[in-house]
Amino acid sequence: MSTSIEFTPLATSDPLDNEPLDNEPLDSEPITTKPKSYPAKGPSILSQVERITDAAISGLGPILLTVAFILLSMTIFCYFSVFLPYHYSWKEGEGLFGNLGYILNLIWSLYLVWGIVANYYFAVRTPPGGVLDGLSASGDAMFQSVLQEMETYTEVPPTCKRCNLPKPERTHHCSVCKTCVLKYDHHCPWIHNCVGHFNHRYFLMFLTYLSISCIYFVYMGISPFLLAADNEGDDNWPYWLDRAIVAFSVVLAVAIGFAVGGMACWHWYLTLTAQTTLEQYNNAYIKKICKKRNEKFTNMYDFGVMGNLQDLFNIGPRGHYPWYTALLPLRIPPIGNGKRFERSGRGYVLDFGEDDEDMV
Ligand SMILES: [Zn+2]
Ligand SMILES: [Zn+2]
Repeated sequence: MSTSIEFTPLATSDPLDNEPLDNEPLDSEPITTKPKSYPAKGPSILSQVERITDAAISGLGPILLTVAFILLSMTIFCYFSVFLPYHYSWKEGEGLFGNLGYILNLIWSLYLVWGIVANYYFAVRTPPGGVLDGLSASGDAMFQSVLQEMETYTEVPPTCKRCNLPKPERTHHCSVCKTCVLKYDHHCPWIHNCVGHFNHRYFLMFLTYLSISCIYFVYMGISPFLLAADNEGDDNWPYWLDRAIVAFSVVLAVAIGFAVGGMACWHWYLTLTAQTTLEQYNNAYIKKICKKRNEKFTNMYDFGVMGNLQDLFNIGPRGHYPWYTALLPLRIPPIGNGKRFERSGRGYVLDFGEDDEDMV
């Protein structure tokens, strides 16, 4: 049997349930994220602050949604009423060929708008995935069916202390939404929703389309911006949209481009290495221990860049949709139910004994 290090599934390494990972285990000990002991917990100032913060994040959600809607509408309007007419206009009598630049630009711009708006809407409106999803029974029967499903791959299914429900692998409790979320990544106040198994693609693609759009917006807007900033006379401003709004839109696009672009790069890195934000911290820790032991750690959910891409878009041999759907901002569900995940078989995995054969 190959060398393996035993450690609890990432789903159980909920930092809110467990002690912080500050004590490194000895070489002879298995790597485990389980707590060694539980300190007695009572209502503390910290938990009060946490509760207030969660309530504030939850309350901030609708405000941020409104802000995002206003800013998006303003910049889209600015683009089509100022930037596009600044560079292109429909030339009468030159037909389709003579207006090719205008047509291609219009199609490309509308595609970006579709990518942003559709993915944002899907990210906001798609539930990220709950433990009881897909179960038609109720009460204890529901609980039992979740347990039964989980028992096929782990002998002692971990349970969420707050939901009192079994906790499938990669699941984490969101203290803002007050529920467990499948393949939890993080709670995003800008979408007033958690990023989890069922809306992760939309969140990532929203960041991607928004980043690309910011670059294109600034590229198209730089000349109108300079014109708007030139206050020598009002005669050189033929657009009815206020020049201050145009200038503000370009500055906003630069700022959002840097912020969202950085975030998009980070989330693409996580996606292509098959990690959630939370798992990345756990994996970095386990990696460190493995390095000390001169052993190589590989993520058990990692199927390589192409495999992970197929998983994200539900395309190719691993998915169910044709490859080109990756480029279409459509509502396409991810692979699997978010409670069980195929494993690459490489790296350090839990010792499932005979049940390991059961994994798809
Ligand atoms: Zn929970
Ligand atoms: Zn949440």
